[in-house]
Amino acid sequence: MRFEGKKVLVTGGSRGIGRAIVEGFVREGAEVAFVYHSNQTAAEDVIATLSGEGFQTVTAHQCDVSQKDQVDALVESLIEKWDRIDVLVNNAGIVKDGLMATMDGDAWLDVINTNLNSVFYFCRAVTRQMMSQRYGRVVNMSSVAAEFPNQGQVNYAASKGGVQGLTRCMATELGKRGVTVNAIAPGFIETDMTEAVRNAAESEIKKMIPLRRLGRAEDIANAALFLASDGASYVTGQILTIDGGLTLGG
Ligand code: NDP
Repeated sequence: MRFEGKKVLVTGGSRGIGRAIVEGFVREGAEVAFVYHSNQTAAEDVIATLSGEGFQTVTAHQCDVSQKDQVDALVESLIEKWDRIDVLVNNAGIVKDGLMATMDGDAWLDVINTNLNSVFYFCRAVTRQMMSQRYGRVVNMSSVAAEFPNQGQVNYAASKGGVQGLTRCMATELGKRGVTVNAIAPGFIETDMTEAVRNAAESEIKKMIPLRRLGRAEDIANAALFLASDGASYVTGQILTIDGGLTLGG
């Protein structure tokens, strides 16, 4: 029970990686608020699953992470309720792939707003509180695509590269206030986001991965919980790649 009594905020907690992170924190004693966008059924399923295990310490909040006012209002309400926030996990993200020559402006802006600007909005709102309480753990979700981009992902690669720069810079600013800031760069993880690519080329993808399997949401959740734990109290400004060896190029 590494997170007994801790107050944790997770974005994109209704599905995939975020859901595994929410479940991990709740099962280890934390009180968790998670954000979803439009899939209320999925959010309710997270609550029902945890409630079925006897956990009543999780709440779901509809909020578009790309909207600064909605983010500020949510963070304010949580601080009013909890008086503190110990852990922030910026996990919500989308893809809108297309070759740059034909990518429309909306596909660029939607991905930058949802994957990068949201991280700035949440970090700014939450770390003001963390600095004043002299304690905080921030975990941002990047991607191996930041350093090893695929064709058709200029928007996504730029957003995840931005997350890495923001993470390192924030770590230098907040260390003296007891706040650590790290990011995770997942490889290929079995979630809704990768369903189409998996359906088209799963066996080819596995051949490129030294561990010969796709990642599971729990593989990433384990890393997020580690970075938020006391065991990682001397780790900050790092990008932790979790990809089964995919980017080793072997
Ligand atoms: P999913 O598509 O499975 O889930 C995305 C989650 O983000 C959902 O909970 C969704 O809410 C939420 N979300 C999306 N847009 C918004 C928004 N505007 N406001 C609030 N919430 C939003 O994604 P994954 O679990 O696969 O990915 C999670 C993170 O990991 C992302 O940042 C992604 O880029 C990153 N990642 C994933 C990889 C993979 O292989 N899957 C690889 C590398 C990085 P709702 O259910 O309401 O739609």
